[in-house]
Amino acid sequence: MSNGWETIIGLEIHAQLNTEAKIFCGCSTRFGDEPNANTCPVCLGLPGALPVLNRRVIELGARAALSLGLQINKQSIFSRKNYFYPDLPKGYQISQFDKPFSANGELEIMTALRDEAGHPSEWRIKKVGITRLHLEEDAGKNVHEGLPEVNRFSYIDLNRAGTPLAEIVTEPDFRTSWEAYDYVNHVRRALQWVGASEADMEKGNLRCEANVSVRRTGDEKFGTKVELKNLNSVRFMQRAIEFEVERQIGVLESGGRLQQETRLWDERAAETRVMRSKEEAHDYRYFPEPDLPPLIVSDEFIARVSAAMPELPEARRRRFMDQYGLPFTDASQLTSERTLADYYEQAAAASGNPRAAANWIRSELLRELETSGATAGDSPVSAADLGALVRLIDEGKISGKQGKGVLVKMFQSGKSAAAIVAEKGLVQLSDTAEIDALIDQVLAGNPQQLSVYREGKETLFGFFVGQVMKSSQGKANPKVVNERLKEKLS
Ligand code: ADP
Ligand code: MG
Ligand code: ZN
Repeated sequence: MSNGWETIIGLEIHAQLNTEAKIFCGCSTRFGDEPNANTCPVCLGLPGALPVLNRRVIELGARAALSLGLQINKQSIFSRKNYFYPDLPKGYQISQFDKPFSANGELEIMTALRDEAGHPSEWRIKKVGITRLHLEEDAGKNVHEGLPEVNRFSYIDLNRAGTPLAEIVTEPDFRTSWEAYDYVNHVRRALQWVGASEADMEKGNLRCEANVSVRRTGDEKFGTKVELKNLNSVRFMQRAIEFEVERQIGVLESGGRLQQETRLWDERAAETRVMRSKEEAHDYRYFPEPDLPPLIVSDEFIARVSAAMPELPEARRRRFMDQYGLPFTDASQLTSERTLADYYEQAAAASGNPRAAANWIRSELLRELETSGATAGDSPVSAADLGALVRLIDEGKISGKQGKGVLVKMFQSGKSAAAIVAEKGLVQLSDTAEIDALIDQVLAGNPQQLSVYREGKETLFGFFVGQVMKSSQGKANPKVVNERLKEKLS
């Protein structure tokens, strides 16, 4: 980051709401069907066809707003946003303008300082102003095939036209690319958590645009902003912002001026490139949609929607800290996804030791899941089975070291911990009489080391522990071995 400059970022997120039917007609929103298979006079924009609002969109829009702690306006208005583009057959998009579904909200996110590789430290709370959350329809898609100037054909696929979106716009409140990164992840998780959207950037059902400008530290006035598009993952967005900030500072420091424009991020070239200049302000000639009445949302409706929502991530993280005594980072990681949080709570209950269950999930289970490409939701080892494994270790039946091997076997075979322990004859040896016998053998078998130890070389203690563990084939309980050895050697 160059000294003497401040970065200003505002974000616009379009999230596809997870409905089966489109926003103003009954056509399916299914992805991947034959081009134009899911169309009708309404979403084709044929003259005389009338839109009817899908109730489910209001429900999921309300879930989205509530998951971000936003107020929902009692009345909002759909408006026509007029512009011409081949994938927009009506010549306008039905959106919301001066009376949106939700406005003037504030969201608290957790954000961290990051090192070069992006590893977080020092988490803190940041407040982000949410300018608006409004409902609108998506446009269709232009599909290009073949090579430009050789055999290029362009087609229009209107399957996506009329898919419901929630657009969420922030105030220019972010000061670093990592704050923007933490915000998008927060929104993504919240929308997924309450089932409002799949919110998968790679699939395109969550799209993000970043508005970026820089100003000299101490200046009040914002600089000229550039809008970044084609950000296909949260990490790409973060990198695009970093690049853009350096580019803008470079232009200004060499005495140049910035254009208000839209630039595309090219991940392979790792740079942003001009897509179109935005010199003349768009004039969309917004006006209220005459074919739709104002959208009225009653208190009862909101109460019903919130009653049906799951406990939200932040609340759950706090509860994990209070109820299970987990540190902040553990509780944060375990609430990074709803399926993982559910998994943890089941495993904690089955184990009888919530802190140990948290450690096992964070250190061992997540690694195994990652290697096998699974998530907590489809883990080959059930939460109950993981809990049972933690219990075996907690009760001293097997050692922690043995437990790690058992978990790997559980992953491979799908068998329970108890079954694997029985098969392999794994038992932790905690019986003091048997351990005493092993110790006596070891001491008798190493008279030289014993006399050196007795002369004061106490570091040999570890040697004896190792020998006893070895002669037990790793089955001895290390805690008991240590205790008995100390006793015998004193
Ligand atoms: P436009 O009319 O160009 O879409 P808006 O005022 O609607 O601009 O703002 C769009 C987004 O850009 C918002 O997220 C807002 O916070 C952000 N934004 C506005 N001005 C700036 C700026 N100078 N630098 C960075 N972001 C900005
Ligand atoms: Mg805008
Ligand atoms: Zn339709």
